[in-house]
Amino acid sequence: MNADRKYQQQRSMLVEELYSRGDIRSPEVRSAMLSVPRELFIPNFIRFEAYIDRPLPIGRGQTISAPHMVAIMAEEMNAGPGQKVLEIGTGSGYHAAVVSRLIRPGGHVFTVERIGDLAREARKNLSRAGMENVTVIEGDGSIGLPEQAPFDRIYYTCAAPDIPGSVLEQLADGGSLLGVVGPMSGVQGLVRLKKKDGMISEEQLTRCVFVPLIGEKGY
Ligand code: SAM
Repeated sequence: MNADRKYQQQRSMLVEELYSRGDIRSPEVRSAMLSVPRELFIPNFIRFEAYIDRPLPIGRGQTISAPHMVAIMAEEMNAGPGQKVLEIGTGSGYHAAVVSRLIRPGGHVFTVERIGDLAREARKNLSRAGMENVTVIEGDGSIGLPEQAPFDRIYYTCAAPDIPGSVLEQLADGGSLLGVVGPMSGVQGLVRLKKKDGMISEEQLTRCVFVPLIGEKGY
């Protein structure tokens, strides 16, 4: 069996497992996860582990998120066609690629990464995987991306001490933000903030463990 076929089979098996565990619930997230080749976002030497459900190293002390966490966040985001999305913490670009499938046609993901080498690698990964509606920006995402605001959806892929008002200002009315809030290491919480008529409501979703957000409004 050739490598592409083998990875495709492993991807289908993993997606079915996430579906049966309830991490994937919707046909949209299921087909997005089936359509993104995670092996293209992982360094060569560990590519064979692409469909094991855990975070993997991508260099510079950072990780590609575990597939179940990407699935859970994709479900909780409830993103749809035409939306403009901000991701804070690009990493390998994998999570942005999955979200980019949920907002087609017409939507766009802007993703900010503070480590230049990772931002460049993510651009290559996304282009190899054929993701045309994702823009990777090198910079400090802890302040958001005011020049592209407002966003229908904002999500963090690294843990922040809190969600600053200056980032919430970049959320469109009717939009929602998924944040990872908690200490630099150890257990953190996934929270969802919704903006309606200028008012913010907050829900605690689940526990999680992410690398810290480093920057002006981070650690
Ligand atoms: N979801 C990503 C993926 O699929 O590969 C993994 C993201 S990784 C867990 C978190 C990323 O956030 C790291 O690449 C880290 O460098 C980045 N990060 C941390 N602080 C940041 C900041 N202030 N601005 C932008 N990126 C930041």
